[in-house]
Amino acid sequence: MYDVAIIGAGINGTAVAFELTQAGKRVALFDKGGIAAGGSGAAGAFISPKFSKSGALKEILHHSFLYSMAFYEKHFPQHFLKSPLLHIAKDEKDDATLLHYKAETPLELLPFKDETRESVSINAGIVNAKQMCEALASEAHLHQEEIRTLRRENGVWILNENYRAEHIVIATGAYEQLLQEPYIKLRGVWGHRVDLKTTTNNPLSLHQEVSISPSNDGVVAVGATHDVHYHPQKTTTPYDYEAGREILLSRASRTISLEDVVIIKDYVGLRSGSFDYMPMVGSLVNAKETLLDNSINFYTKKPDFSAYSYYKNLTMINGSGGYGFVLAPYLAKILSAYILEEKEISSKLLPARFFARYAKRV
Ligand SMILES: Cc1cc2nc3c(=O)[nH]c(=O)nc-3n(C[C@H](O)[C@H](O)[C@H](O)COP(=O)(O)OP(=O)(O)OC[C@H]3O[C@@H](n4cnc5c(N)ncnc54)[C@H](O)[C@@H]3O)c2cc1C
Repeated sequence: MYDVAIIGAGINGTAVAFELTQAGKRVALFDKGGIAAGGSGAAGAFISPKFSKSGALKEILHHSFLYSMAFYEKHFPQHFLKSPLLHIAKDEKDDATLLHYKAETPLELLPFKDETRESVSINAGIVNAKQMCEALASEAHLHQEEIRTLRRENGVWILNENYRAEHIVIATGAYEQLLQEPYIKLRGVWGHRVDLKTTTNNPLSLHQEVSISPSNDGVVAVGATHDVHYHPQKTTTPYDYEAGREILLSRASRTISLEDVVIIKDYVGLRSGSFDYMPMVGSLVNAKETLLDNSINFYTKKPDFSAYSYYKNLTMINGSGGYGFVLAPYLAKILSAYILEEKEISSKLLPARFFARYAKRV
């Protein structure tokens, strides 16, 4: 019997495993492909804030950026590289956004500049994606197994008719959802990045059309593409690696001229985005049961999430889009505090916000 069973061993699942094992809980971690087999294994994984003017996503990414930089450095410095980042505007509109960002940001600005476009430079970081997930998961019991069934009996969750746990955390990314709740819709955005060898030395993390890592023994990482049409579970057509590489190299060439390029390795995977771009963290509403409750007014502008019926001791963490490694330590802390101490989660993060919209429609 486990205290918590986490399904999905990407950065979200493993970050939650870290928090809960640190708190002394007995944690099982399930993944059909092993650690970082999904989107997390493909990530760069650059730790940076969102260089936009305003909005809830910018806010949470700012806090998560500060939190994750300190978290990775404190707990896993061996899998984390602190490196200056030069973020360069893509076009005129972006020039204005970056000017605004620089005027407002409390972050320390570094002197690196681009000659042709507006740019901003700060201290940022890069995570070794797979090694970081492995390190975060090291105290959990790992099972390389797909979870196909989940049911509750006598106050306990039963997974695959074989494992028992008090709590369940679903961290399955953009891959097929275990609990088919109609209001949970995730956008899978396919991404491709490469490690390549080049004689060009790059001292900084560069972000423009794509991100380019600093050189490490002549190797740089370049990523990533954003393809909303390709989904490995929805097509039988194999992914076209050559076309993906061409896109990456042509976009990178806008920022830096990379000489004598030899591709060493391709990484591909799905990002998982929500429809308001904010992550989803917290309990899951049982839509069928909640809709049967005639005492709830679903048409109100200010829905009362506490009136809904929820799956008992079952939460999710998902929808991190292209910022999973920035968000995960912060979100895992929030989710663990909820599981361990029932600490409230902001309504901006709760999956219930999507149920409220769905219930109005149906
Ligand atoms: C090419 C690329 C580059 C990226 N670059 C960056 C970056 O620079 N910085 C950044 O912060 N983010 C980056 N991201 C985004 C980041 O990788 C994602 O936000 C993050 O991986 C999401 O993590 P996750 O744990 O939610 O999902 P995933 O990593 O996809 O993990 C979900 C896991 O669940 C498992 N699973 C699903 N269903 C089941 C089941 N029924 N039973 C058992 N296991 C199951 C899957 O095998 C998978 O391993 C990038 C993503 C891509 C694709």
